[in-house]
Amino acid sequence: MNNIKKLIVIVGSGFAGINAAIQLRKINSNLSILVIDSKSQFEFKPLLYEVFSDEIQSWEVIPSFDTIFANSGITFLRNTVKLIDLDEKFLILKDDFKVEFQYLILSTGSSPNDFSIKGVKEYAYFFNTNKDQRKLKNRLKQPLLKNNCKKIFIIGAGPSGVELACKINDLYKTKFEINIVERTAEILNNNKIFNKEEAQKTIKAKNINLLTNSSVIEIRDKEILITNKSDQVDQFPYFAIIWTAGIKPNLPEFVQKIQKTNNRILINNKLQLPCYPNVFALGDISIIEGKTNLPITAQVAMQQGLHAALNLNLLLQKENPIPFQFKDNGEMISLGIGEASISGLGLTLSGKFAFDLRRIIYASKMPKIDKSIKSAASWFLGKKSIINQFINR
Ligand SMILES: Cc1cc2nc3c(=O)[nH]c(=O)nc-3n(C[C@H](O)[C@H](O)[C@H](O)COP(=O)(O)OP(=O)(O)OC[C@H]3O[C@@H](n4cnc5c(N)ncnc54)[C@H](O)[C@@H]3O)c2cc1C
Repeated sequence: MNNIKKLIVIVGSGFAGINAAIQLRKINSNLSILVIDSKSQFEFKPLLYEVFSDEIQSWEVIPSFDTIFANSGITFLRNTVKLIDLDEKFLILKDDFKVEFQYLILSTGSSPNDFSIKGVKEYAYFFNTNKDQRKLKNRLKQPLLKNNCKKIFIIGAGPSGVELACKINDLYKTKFEINIVERTAEILNNNKIFNKEEAQKTIKAKNINLLTNSSVIEIRDKEILITNKSDQVDQFPYFAIIWTAGIKPNLPEFVQKIQKTNNRILINNKLQLPCYPNVFALGDISIIEGKTNLPITAQVAMQQGLHAALNLNLLLQKENPIPFQFKDNGEMISLGIGEASISGLGLTLSGKFAFDLRRIIYASKMPKIDKSIKSAASWFLGKKSIINQFINR
């Protein structure tokens, strides 16, 4: 078995992992850091809708890790972690490679949860990765044949379901009949009131059907079964079903038993595993003891990545780590081609200007990358007038 030894190992290079790695090197450029990810590219998920609608090119928001970590002093390894031994401080990779660490940051994100509902895995499309977005785009581009049904069902009226419904409506106009299916009585249950109201207006204006208090009980080859408000089962034919109803954490296997809440790794307010102060678990995979209401978002993951870097450095200096405080910087959702809604930091905005501002803000959140790749920043620089307009407000 091959063996690597590193002071700091980061598993999962998404929003939390990338920010932790870059911040650690900023704090101390001598640290030896290994980042492991099963993919070769970083995916800026909040802008996947715009990649889907061709408003943004994929290269702008899906840069390769080789590019991101070039000349950073951080080692990147493309591989999948399959087992972690927290007591012996090593992990095993897919090809049986062994990696020893002194400090570990886990940030492996999440993937769609089908809640074991029959037929979801087989027949539904997901929207969690660039690969998912390409698969869905290919399906929707297929022509409607004479005997094809026009109905699309989007399951889950959270941000993903609502944002996708609006984009698909604007892209395909009358080609499809779009239905959003939501288990509860409302859309965007965990979102800000302003964004929720803007989304409700937009859904109405775009003639998107909303089936509330309705749950999918099974998906078959040609039909979907949904229980409706009156607890009756309706059966519909469909052209495509898109599953955005929930996520579950991507947890590698552990030798030791670790504490979990809602299947996510339980951590203390310094972001460490309670019995393993040298191990941090961040982003979608973890939950802070007593703070179960933190949103599962990129914003939280990024802030935790930066904070874990600070705390890990304090441990290296033999000082005490400090508690994590989430700063709510607001929330942004896209509502169709060129339209968005923003609520936060005392600002509420919707429409075209909100769409431009959302892209500017996201461009500024892209990992710092080499000049050779222009990223969303190229677009950002071309929008100076918008920035000035915003600054002068
Ligand atoms: C379509 C979509 C839109 C979204 N929009 C927003 C938004 O507008 N605002 C917002 O704040 N949040 C948004 N989110 C949520 C946000 O993207 C996630 O909360 C965020 O990505 C979580 O960051 P993370 O670092 O925990 O995980 P991720 O960013 O998912 O990164 C996890 C990384 O771990 C890697 N990995 C997984 N398992 C292993 C393994 N065993 N070994 C090695 N590597 C592994 C993966 O390849 C991945 O690169 C959106 C999510 C989706 C899917």
